[in-house]
Amino acid sequence: MEDILNTNARAILDAVQSSQKHPTALDVYESVRQVRPRIGLATVYRILHQLSAQGLIKEMGQASDCSRYDACTNRHDHAICTECGALLDIPLEIQLSMEELRAAAQATGLELGSHEVRIYGRCTACQTRRNE
Ligand SMILES: [Zn+2]
Ligand SMILES: [Zn+2]
Repeated sequence: MEDILNTNARAILDAVQSSQKHPTALDVYESVRQVRPRIGLATVYRILHQLSAQGLIKEMGQASDCSRYDACTNRHDHAICTECGALLDIPLEIQLSMEELRAAAQATGLELGSHEVRIYGRCTACQTRRNE
């Protein structure tokens, strides 16, 4: 049986966990190649899926080439920069009541599973750039 956390998987998990910016599979590939130069992109994709299935990382959004990976597997919300696309973890809890969430789910006919709040705006780096 294949050892799931082999050296490749370990390197990939490290790459996701050391990145603060919710890397895409391509970002992970670029950074893992520094330490494992012979790794292939297909292997990176496959291992990212395995790590998500094991709950060690979280795959964000639809499974596609541009899906991003999150090292934080607890429920948390995100702030997105509309200028550079930076995806940031919001370090505090946004309070939403269960009634509000249920009403929102009901209005769309959805059976409530989980939820996530997203806020949009310009990140500090982009604000600084604009003001220069
Ligand atoms: Zn930005
Ligand atoms: Zn996150």
